[in-house]
Amino acid sequence: MSPIILIPPILVLLLWGTTRLKSLAAVKAAQQDGWIVTGGWRSPARNSVVGGHPQSKHMIGLAWDFRLAGPAENLRKYFSAEKLLVRIVPEKDHVHVQVQGRA
Ligand SMILES: [Zn+2]
Repeated sequence: MSPIILIPPILVLLLWGTTRLKSLAAVKAAQQDGWIVTGGWRSPARNSVVGGHPQSKHMIGLAWDFRLAGPAENLRKYFSAEKLLVRIVPEKDHVHVQVQGRA
């Protein structure tokens, strides 16, 4: 049986907030290099309409979509510069990037 660890909500909020700010800095750096952001935060209703994953990180502000402006993997450096681990998913007409955690 694994122990249940309770994290105070204020800590969750602080972790999310700092991760969100670092993510925004990474996105800004990517934009300065010519990457165009085509998607960011979306409401659960909007997520449903566009057929997003039910647990999509777009709904918590930790996923972005970029128009292809080069090899998808090139996006990783902006996030690792902010000490963030990301999952990069090349889609048909865009690249989905979501924050997995902190390096
Ligand atoms: Zn996406």
